[in-house]
Amino acid sequence: MSCIPEVFASKVFDDKMMRSRLPKDAYQSLHRTIEEGSPLNQELANAVASAMCAWAVENGATHFTHWFQPLTGITAEKHDSFVNPAPDGRAIMEFSGKELIQGEPDASSFPSGGLRATFEARGYTAWDPTSYAFIKEKTLCIPTAFCSYGGEALDKKTPLLRSMEAINRQSLRILKLFGNESVKRVTTNVGPEQEYFLVDREMYLKRKDLRYSGRTLFGAKPPKGQELDDHYFGSIKPRVQAFMEELNEELWKLGIYAKTEHNEVAPAQHELAVIYTTTNVATDKNQLTMEVMKKVARRHGLVCLLHEKPFAGVNGSGKHNNWSISTDTGINLLSPGETPHENAQFLLFLMAVIQAVDDYQDLLRLSVASAGNDHRLGANEAPPAVISIFLGDELTAVLDAIEKDAPYAGAEKKQLKLGVDVLPKFPRDSTDRNRTSPFAFTGNKFEFRMVGSSDSIACPNMMLNAAVADALMQFADVLEKADDFNSCLHDLIKNTIIAHKRIIFNGNGYDDAWIKEATEKRGLLNLRTTPDALQKLLDEKNIKMLLGQGVFAECELRSRYEIQLENYVRTVRIEALTMTDMARREIQPAVMAFSADAAKGITAKKAIDQSVACKYEMKLVKRLGVLSDCIDTATDELEEAVTVLDSLENVTFQALHIRDIIIPKMAELRAACDEAETLTASSYWPFPTYGDLLFGV
Ligand code: ADP
Ligand code: MG
Repeated sequence: MSCIPEVFASKVFDDKMMRSRLPKDAYQSLHRTIEEGSPLNQELANAVASAMCAWAVENGATHFTHWFQPLTGITAEKHDSFVNPAPDGRAIMEFSGKELIQGEPDASSFPSGGLRATFEARGYTAWDPTSYAFIKEKTLCIPTAFCSYGGEALDKKTPLLRSMEAINRQSLRILKLFGNESVKRVTTNVGPEQEYFLVDREMYLKRKDLRYSGRTLFGAKPPKGQELDDHYFGSIKPRVQAFMEELNEELWKLGIYAKTEHNEVAPAQHELAVIYTTTNVATDKNQLTMEVMKKVARRHGLVCLLHEKPFAGVNGSGKHNNWSISTDTGINLLSPGETPHENAQFLLFLMAVIQAVDDYQDLLRLSVASAGNDHRLGANEAPPAVISIFLGDELTAVLDAIEKDAPYAGAEKKQLKLGVDVLPKFPRDSTDRNRTSPFAFTGNKFEFRMVGSSDSIACPNMMLNAAVADALMQFADVLEKADDFNSCLHDLIKNTIIAHKRIIFNGNGYDDAWIKEATEKRGLLNLRTTPDALQKLLDEKNIKMLLGQGVFAECELRSRYEIQLENYVRTVRIEALTMTDMARREIQPAVMAFSADAAKGITAKKAIDQSVACKYEMKLVKRLGVLSDCIDTATDELEEAVTVLDSLENVTFQALHIRDIIIPKMAELRAACDEAETLTASSYWPFPTYGDLLFGV
């Protein structure tokens, strides 16, 4: 590869490209649009479109697409070519401002949860100038929002952008109170750490479960799993190394700062972290990263599994969402400052996060709810379904001192006066210390660890932004009326600590004792499954807050509730059908063939020597016979349960039927099949085993 700085962002129409390609005044007005959200006129749009088109064509593009994020969870695109008829009967490459700003995908089959009846199927896409256009293969991709003609959001970008506006609005009010007038804009930033598995493609293709559902639905535990901890940060195998190198190159060309890569805990599991950026851009880039990972894996004879739980018995995959709030003047508002003034401001923003996470535990939990993630959250794996915040001992001690008006037990042992005293220096947290916390403060940012590996990060971030904006709004309402700012601030912080300290927990989140304490003593929510969590979306307090912050309209929330539950139901339904198919047509025949051969062996042996007991064969044939019958019954029952599912009309009832009947039935069927696998000769087993998949690259 040629010099990295040279290829970096070579496929992106970024600021540098705009500056060099646009007339000076056009560049300046576009810049204003991007920085301040000022409106875009037709003339400017035309200038940008024509510069973009010329650049894209020079770089090999023939088509353009509005690239958007419908509620299916993946990105969508519909390509149009730049080709237009020329007066001389030949063709010219053209792209107008109108085409740049707005598109009309025929989007009737994207989920809308009843927002858009199919007869008025046309939603429209609208350019998001804050996220740069880029070239993928031969197509210029323009990041866009996707709405119905009534203006309701049909995608994940629109509410995310609204939530960023909300937190901007409320943060500016707070900063003004601290005398900070120069800040024009406050944004949230995210750096996602993406976990994934790599498996051999030949083996993958032999497993219907991986192909249809992205995870293994059967598979006995191999003799070796992750118990030796020899994979985590271990040396990277050549084939994986080659994949990572190409992945990095592809991402760099797309202007994505791929930074850290390492092996993860489970065999065949890896992680990629990119450098943080503005939330909506980070979201777009994470979607793109996932897509590129899959594509590059294929070129190496591998398949990249982004599912939250591809294998039972070893760790699943998540996505750590590192989140912070910063100003356009370069201040990280979650960083303890150098002066008393900055410290007080930091503590107030910290309080806003604490209040937000406590008040809206349910929204955060449901923002990462999916059938796949249910295998991690609340299922004896990190992190738990109960949300709590890790602050670290030092910061917790500071809050304790404020709450009790007690001397802070730091170096000087004196009372901490807000707005007067400087906070002690907190050592930056070492990540390993708090790996069990779902929401950890790591020195100058929070790390939300419940996000599923295949999830879009849009949902958790819109909920987080909205909830924090709401807390900031309440704080600003109080502080703006204060006569004595410092004492009002002190009381506000103190009262917030008292009201919300139950959400702070620095101990081991895996511990059963914690779950008991959290739910019984502290009254924290433990929403173990997607249906449990989603029901909270329509709670009055949540609707009120999300409407109040302008992030959702009520009809949008209702539609999202339906769509998310539908996704859950459809996902598990596919899994159930895949299981019955594999059990009947692959597993049973294999077990039968092996037992039949074993039984034939008994006759053959007896023919030679009547007195031979054939203990092994007898035991084997008997046990496999019992298991075959179990598999048969469980398969029938699972199939019957799917028939019942299909007869239910209401999606809420369907989801509950999945949770209470279908998932337990699937587990039953799996248990019988997995035991049969351990008794059946390898040569009879119809598809690659866990050992093959996990150690086969
Ligand atoms: P680790 O979690 O392994 O200790 P870091 O904390 O350095 O590593 O970074 C993890 C992720 O957090 C990276 O994606 C990084 O870009 C991101 N990150 C670092 N600082 C911030 C910040 N202020 N806001 C948001 N994300 C950040
Ligand atoms: Mg981390």
